[in-house]
Amino acid sequence: MSVAAIDRRAVSRIDTDILVVGGGAAGVAAAITAVRAGLDVTLIERYGFCGGGAVAGLSGTVCGLYAASEFDRGPQQMVFGFAEEFVEALSARGGLAGPVRYGKTFTRVHDPLMWRETADDMLATAGVRVIYHCVAVEVLLDGNEAVAGVMAWSKQGPLEIRARQTIDASGDADIVAMAGLPNFVGDNGRVQNPTMIFRLGNVDVEAFVAAYGTDTIMPPSVSAMISEASASGGYRLPRTKIWLFTTTRPNELLCNCTRITGADGRELNTLLHADFSEAEFEGRRQVRDYARFFRDRLVGCENAFVNDTGVQVGVRQTRQVEGTSKLGNGDILAGRKFADGVARSPWPIELHSGSKPRVEWLLDDVYEVPYGCFVPQRGENLLVAGRCLSAEHEAVASARVTAQCFSYGHAIGHAAVIAVRDRLAPRQIEGRDLRMLLNRDGARLDA
Ligand SMILES: Cc1cc2nc3c(=O)[nH]c(=O)nc-3n(C[C@H](O)[C@H](O)[C@H](O)COP(=O)(O)OP(=O)(O)OC[C@H]3O[C@@H](n4cnc5c(N)ncnc54)[C@H](O)[C@@H]3O)c2cc1C
Repeated sequence: MSVAAIDRRAVSRIDTDILVVGGGAAGVAAAITAVRAGLDVTLIERYGFCGGGAVAGLSGTVCGLYAASEFDRGPQQMVFGFAEEFVEALSARGGLAGPVRYGKTFTRVHDPLMWRETADDMLATAGVRVIYHCVAVEVLLDGNEAVAGVMAWSKQGPLEIRARQTIDASGDADIVAMAGLPNFVGDNGRVQNPTMIFRLGNVDVEAFVAAYGTDTIMPPSVSAMISEASASGGYRLPRTKIWLFTTTRPNELLCNCTRITGADGRELNTLLHADFSEAEFEGRRQVRDYARFFRDRLVGCENAFVNDTGVQVGVRQTRQVEGTSKLGNGDILAGRKFADGVARSPWPIELHSGSKPRVEWLLDDVYEVPYGCFVPQRGENLLVAGRCLSAEHEAVASARVTAQCFSYGHAIGHAAVIAVRDRLAPRQIEGRDLRMLLNRDGARLDA
């Protein structure tokens, strides 16, 4: 018996200049930048809020703003432009803590609810057409490889969204993959492990900080306790090097400590539905074990409870575009600069692979990310923004953090506007011209 897959509901059509798929840090920045140039911009997002990995994945802090250094000079901000604007707006509503120490650098903990509200406000004020609960399911192609928008799923029925330029800010390079354009997954298919992040309430934060210090990377004594507790058999705690952050809320810790692998020990690739589902089950299970260990063993956590987990397991790395340029592993610690650099980063390589995260520092410097990392090698009318940029495995372990995703969106929003206005293919746009526009917006790429 043959089966026909069909949706008999009417198709609604939207025509727009620029379509942004995904409302993470990159998508929000791209959409707002583009609409400010006077174009019609539509952003679709599968959840009912923006923030992606930062909010649904509860990543919890804005990394990538400050230089790393061996010297105790306090936070030295290196990244500005849209990242700075968003951080200021979030801070103004009380949704961002001051800089806290993270090893040799600093980061800032955000309130995930206020992150959503800040994005809502900025998108609405700028005039972006935002469609929540809407998933891109197919790409519209003009000829073989010219992207003309997407077909999307909504509760109302199918949406045909036709756009002159599309920005793939899905984090997973979904549109690139749907269009059959060159892409790759991690290091020959191996990706960094997912982490289920959670919030712990009712913590005596003062006692906690007095016991373990102000560095959010927990000291070796805590790692040793975790190893010992795991070995004793009472808990299953696969990660010993953990990060615990005080937050904007009283008596709360944000806990980045789980390491999710498959039951057979394999690294999970959340592009695979079985792996994604297993990661959610295992993530929630580990949260309970870590929380129990914290209550039993950590000073200040005696009466703590799990407030919440991410809406989904945090996904660090999946599919990435093969761009006309590729950020190399060696570019990060070399602090490499590019004439067509459109974003900068002082963030270390923070590789979550194997038994414990590996952090390698770039000291007192930044590296740059060239424009070509966001331009697909083949295909027309399509740009990429965010963590699915073209970058090697260790490079993306640095380049994926939030301040940089804002910066990528800022740059690619401008690129999409130029492509529409000047009727240029993205590959014809000069990174140097974008750099000039970004500096005009206060990105300080030449500071
Ligand atoms: C466990 C973990 C901890 C982290 N810790 C930190 C940290 O402390 N500080 C920091 O700065 N960074 C951290 N990061 C990294 C950072 O959160 C992300 O890399 C960053 O948020 C990525 O932004 P993005 O916009 O590229 O993609 P995402 O945030 O992944 O956004 C993509 C958006 O697209 C939507 N989407 C996907 N597919 C579709 C589709 N087909 N149709 C419609 N919508 C779609 C998604 O719902 C999502 O909202 C962490 C990441 C993880 C996983």
